[in-house]
Amino acid sequence: MSEVFTECLEKVERRIAAACEKAGRSRDSVRLLAVSKTRPPEAVREAAACGLRLFGENRVQEAQSKIPLCPAGLEWHLIGHLQTNKAKLAVRLFQMVHSVDSLKLLQALEAHADLTLPVLLQVNVSGEAAKFGMKPDEVSATIEAANQMKKCEVHGLMTIPPFSPDPEKTRVHFSALRQLRDRLQEETGTPLPELSMGMSHDLEVAIEEGSTWVRIGTDLFGSRN
Ligand SMILES: *Cc1c(COP(=O)(O)O)cnc(C)c1O
Repeated sequence: MSEVFTECLEKVERRIAAACEKAGRSRDSVRLLAVSKTRPPEAVREAAACGLRLFGENRVQEAQSKIPLCPAGLEWHLIGHLQTNKAKLAVRLFQMVHSVDSLKLLQALEAHADLTLPVLLQVNVSGEAAKFGMKPDEVSATIEAANQMKKCEVHGLMTIPPFSPDPEKTRVHFSALRQLRDRLQEETGTPLPELSMGMSHDLEVAIEEGSTWVRIGTDLFGSRN
């Protein structure tokens, strides 16, 4: 096993633990999703050998070729934009979808899922034009629609804020997602315990703002080209 990976994992774990402590949260309240996109199956195998079980991929096609070459018993999460015509394939590959960005996609997942499918609704809280994600005012109706579905279950919200080299600048977006979640919980009476937010460079701020899933690629596996 490479010492490089072990060291990276220890460092990420220490950062998560420190952020939890600072925020007065238990370490158990935050899950580490190892983002393995662009990495070969060997990288996943190594991470799994270190005890990681939760992996994130952003493209269905890449996941389709990679997952069969990875150890069994891992949990795969889709974190990237999904076209409705790939929903059928996605429900066979992934145990959870963090990136449901339209009602149409939710309906496609519902149509193809055989089992209960936990999903998160991706919200564009910053209003940045180039980002996928629903508008904050579309989320409530999507949750109401999901509440009538048999397979898809909305467990919470996800966001990808605009990149800023200064993580403090991102805090406002994480905080906006949490406040939106709090409001939607009240309005719809639907429990929304999960917040998927925070990546390599801003996981601390995300945890302080209530993240329950940090999605970490670069700081575990090295930089992507
Ligand atoms: C690539 C990716 C990540 C991981 O980002 P890093 O900065 O490499 O940790 C997290 N979330 C999503 C949606 C991604 O596409």
